[in-house]
Amino acid sequence: MSDAIRLAGVIGHPVAHSRSPLLHRFWLRRYGIDGDYVKLPVAPGGVRAAFAGLAALGFRGANVTVPWKIEAFRFADRLDRAARRIGAVNTLVVAQDGRLEGRNTDAHGFLANLRSGAPGFDPSAAPAVLLGAGGAARAVAVALLDAGCPEVRLLNRTVASADSLASALGGPITVFPMTETARTMLDAGLLVNATSLGMSGQPALEIDLSALPAGAVVNDIVYTPLETPLLAAARARGLRAVDGLGMLIHQAAPAFEAFFGLRPEVDAAVRSHLVDRL
Ligand code: NAP
Repeated sequence: MSDAIRLAGVIGHPVAHSRSPLLHRFWLRRYGIDGDYVKLPVAPGGVRAAFAGLAALGFRGANVTVPWKIEAFRFADRLDRAARRIGAVNTLVVAQDGRLEGRNTDAHGFLANLRSGAPGFDPSAAPAVLLGAGGAARAVAVALLDAGCPEVRLLNRTVASADSLASALGGPITVFPMTETARTMLDAGLLVNATSLGMSGQPALEIDLSALPAGAVVNDIVYTPLETPLLAAARARGLRAVDGLGMLIHQAAPAFEAFFGLRPEVDAAVRSHLVDRL
């Protein structure tokens, strides 16, 4: 490494679990870039100082993860359209003038993963069922609405959170109680789990997929484990199932380009590098 090393990282609390360094370091090695990407654990009380210090420390930028995405949204000097729409920032880029640009690449990552995992899938062709109303669900809802989805059917344990997400985003979002899941599936083209259910250490997502049409796609954005019980149930029914790891990889690609100046290829090699280390 030289003195001109390019630096980026991921800010979160905690951040020990983050797979982002694995991804960015894989691409740095692949493209022979003199750089590094590090974990930046930042506890409450220090996050604004951490954001402000990026430029002074010579960082090109940083990804931002739980729980700091909204704080980054508030702190950024400028915001891209996706960040404004989602109301959260997952990528801070130090611009030429030293200002911090807040971007959000989660919606892009979600759609790019769906398109590569289910070739030919058209989000504008049929309603989508979206489970969850947290930060990730918000990015998924924006992606689906912006891709022309005729109706996003939103279901969440806490109905009030789903209602506020729907009213914040506007557009064709309909909130349903969890008890109505089967009815929402009948003519749906897509079902997405954007809750943390099914993740290692969390309760399973109990759902019966029998009402989904045969051509529907099922996507779980949870990627630990890679094959969640939801995806296994979808495959058992003969439905197309798309795991969540591709979303993580695709959201990282535009961030890598912003930090290191080159758009990395999302291919089988980067995916298997991550799968081996999940
Ligand atoms: P979040 O903001 O904390 O939202 C959590 C969501 O899960 C809420 O809708 C919450 O419902 C629901 N939930 C949690 N525990 C539940 C339970 N016991 N029963 C029913 N619902 C429950 O988290 P997030 O940032 O949106 O992340 C959600 C998941 O997506 C996580 O597993 C995360 O790892 C994954 N993710 C993946 C990617 C990717 O690149 N693949 C990107 C971002 C996130 P309530 O509103 O009722 O609490």
